[in-house]
Parts: sequence; C-alpha cells; structure tokens
Amino acid sequence: MSGIFKKPTRRVDRVFIHCSASDHANHDNIATIRKWHLARGFSDIGYHFFIHKSGKVSKGRPIKKIPAAQRGNNTGTIAICLHGLLKEKFTQAQYSALRSLCTKINNAYFKNISFHGHREVAAKACPVFDYKKVLKLDNYGSLGLDSSIVRGVEATSDFTELNYGDQGDEVKKLQKLLGIKADGDYGKKTLKAVKEFKQQHNLYPSGIVTKQVWQLLSKPILENIRIADASRLPDLQMGSRGKSVEFLQELLFLKVDGIFGSNTAKYVKAFKEEHGYYPSDIVQQHIWKLLLEVRRIEHYE
Ligand SMILES: [Zn+2]
Repeated sequence: MSGIFKKPTRRVDRVFIHCSASDHANHDNIATIRKWHLARGFSDIGYHFFIHKSGKVSKGRPIKKIPAAQRGNNTGTIAICLHGLLKEKFTQAQYSALRSLCTKINNAYFKNISFHGHREVAAKACPVFDYKKVLKLDNYGSLGLDSSIVRGVEATSDFTELNYGDQGDEVKKLQKLLGIKADGDYGKKTLKAVKEFKQQHNLYPSGIVTKQVWQLLSKPILENIRIADASRLPDLQMGSRGKSVEFLQELLFLKVDGIFGSNTAKYVKAFKEEHGYYPSDIVQQHIWKLLLEVRRIEHYE
C-alpha cells in the first residue's frame, strides 16, 4: 500500500469523517487547522488527513498517533477532514479524493473497518454533507462489502486451492475478496495481497490460497457480529476448541486457530477485568453478550 496511506501498527477499526466548518480559501491549508487545534490545547492538528477544495489530500497528524477529533471515540480510529462549511460548497474533487482514500484504507484492512461521520458520536452536524451517500456506506458503515460474493463463497463447500500463476474465475473471485483489480490472473500483485492477508491473520505468508484462507476471506468479522446471538453461543474456557473459539478470537483480535490456549485466556481475563468481572478464563453468556455489545458499539455507534 504505497502513497498517501500507510497502515499504522496500532489497532484501527473505524474511520471518522469531518468538515472544517470554513469555506475560506485562506483556511484551506494544514497550517491554519493546526493553529486552531494548538489553540484548543491539542499537541498537533487533530486529523490525519485534510482534503482541500481542489481534491488534494494533505497529511496532518502522523497516522501512527491516535487522533484528537471525536471526543471519547479517538482510540482505534483514523480522522479525515474535508475543508468546507456549506453543504453545496464541497467539491466533486473532494468527494472523489475521499472515496479513493477510504477505498485504500478499506482494502488495507480487508474490509474489517467501518466508516462514520463525526455526528454519529457527537451532538454536532459534522460533517454537513451526506458522507453515507458519497461513500456508498451500508447501515453499519461498511464500504463496498460485496455480500453477494461473500454468500457465493460460503455456499460452495468445494474450495479451489489457488497459487501464483493460476488463472480464471476462481482467481477473479479471490481478487474481489482481496479488494484488488479482478483480472483473473494470479500475478505479482495478487501474490503480494495474499501474502499480506495471510500475514495479517498470522498464517505463514506464502502464496497458496488454502481452504482456511478462503474461509477467512469470505467471512468478514462484521458479518459475524451482526448475526451473532449470545444466547446461542456455548460456554468456553481454556481447552475449548472449535468454531465458537474462532469467533471469540476474532472478537478479541487474536490469532484465529480455534484453540482456547493460554494466549486466548490471557485476553479473556484482561477483557473481564477491564469490565469489572473476576478475571477467570471462563466465557459465559453474559461475557459473550458484553463482548458483542462492545464490538458493536465500537463499530457502529
Ligand atoms: Zn468533526
């Protein structure tokens, strides 16, 4: 992922869109916004990206730093600001720059990220334009989550193992799921994306697309959270195995192997402690419920 966006090592699962609340041409620069934010006591400009009326994108606060943009909702986010105040004065060049930047971010996180307006978490009108329409977001803030493809892959239990050099429709399907150009040719770009995806899921980063990779690709965590019902999830503890452990690990952002080992236990304990429960490794219904709620809130509210 070269150019304007480089994925930070800190965990990120939401992107927030803002507007600068000014239409003045002499405010259409990073220096002015930084000055305003320093005057408010921030250590630097609060946003990571600033989109000028011309459509040019400038970098603000380093992406590795948490933004100062959505009070109480800064951790785990990226903040993007478009210069503008009146709805009708935002430019198409800005919208297209926003779409392109958000698509890059979405692809870098393999769609496990959602996009929101500042107004979703604050009693403000920010941003004043219809960002959901501009970015074609669904109700959960997902950008371009192609559910027909997702269902298509889930429906077929026969997975085709793919590797560098392969061609055809299965490669196209893979490329769509990876969010890269779907030309049906498993070349260098596809190889790079597959390796990156596997690395992100703690798999050995080779080019082979195994059944496990297909499953990970075709089951975005957002889908799982949406349909999950705590009352149907079993009690788990150290030593448990299976699909529900995989789901637990996804929710805790851990390596997904379906085995409840000491590492999973460590994060379960920390989660329980953080929420005022006795830090044992047991995940009962109320812990599932809490875990789902927390993740839903982080993603959608
Ligand atoms: Zn804002």
